[in-house]
Amino acid sequence: MHSILFSANPEQARMEDIINHLKNHKMVYFNVNYPINWDQFIFPMMGFIHITGTGQVQCCVEISNIETYRDEHYENEELKPPEWRVRWLENPNEIRSKGKCAYIITGLTKFEYKTTELIRSNGEPVTHAPEGYIKIIAPYGEEAFQSAVQYASPELPEEGPINRQEKNVVLTTSYPRKPKYSKEALVKAQYKCEHDNSHKTFTHPATGKNFMEAHHLIPMEFQEYFVNSIDFPENIISLCPNCHRAIHKADFNEIEKMITTFCGKRLDSLKKRGIKVSLKKIISYYKD
Ligand SMILES: [Zn+2]
Ligand SMILES: [Zn+2]
Repeated sequence: MHSILFSANPEQARMEDIINHLKNHKMVYFNVNYPINWDQFIFPMMGFIHITGTGQVQCCVEISNIETYRDEHYENEELKPPEWRVRWLENPNEIRSKGKCAYIITGLTKFEYKTTELIRSNGEPVTHAPEGYIKIIAPYGEEAFQSAVQYASPELPEEGPINRQEKNVVLTTSYPRKPKYSKEALVKAQYKCEHDNSHKTFTHPATGKNFMEAHHLIPMEFQEYFVNSIDFPENIISLCPNCHRAIHKADFNEIEKMITTFCGKRLDSLKKRGIKVSLKKIISYYKD
């Protein structure tokens, strides 16, 4: 699920106002003073609101869509908490001229998270409080972790035992995958790397075969785009761990080459499963 990190000024946007308003009207329009290209997002998406000055995310919201800002947003009492409409009328600091976009918020959960523990979609950590908007992935999961390792500066902790950290809160939702379908893909590939069938790994005790990993050609995070499931053997590629890392992490030209080869044999079988998609589209899923 896509997520976005953005800021609120505590004097202008109290979380309690949003919560109260949501109880009655089921949605709140939250204005931001930068334009946003909403083609880049799949809705609903998650928003993390960072409260200016604290470095902390203080709540997580569900964003059902983004609209271009209009004055009517303030004039319609179903769209704004009463307190925000009062400010609109009084117009301190010329707030009326500042809106560019409105996030349509349909749910809010409170929680605390340091902005610097979030990871951008390009794998870099968030280092400053957001100014514009930042597309982020939640700080959990192997992918996010391995990306964070690449961008982190090395550090040796002080000598001696280290207190363990609090458990992470899992922030994103995802579509489950059936291990059986992935296994079917590995069996069908005869436990060979589909990028280069000479790649040797090690014998896994469970299968007694060359260890391979399952990669979804249309990645599961794009399930939102399709009415039918994309979790089936024809969408799954058997890759050695090295090539699996490469298809996620390599230089984009290299990734593009790999995908083009894999798609050649598979677009038809995807279609039979009710997934109509072009090579170009699949490649675009890997651009982020
Ligand atoms: Zn993968
Ligand atoms: Zn390989």
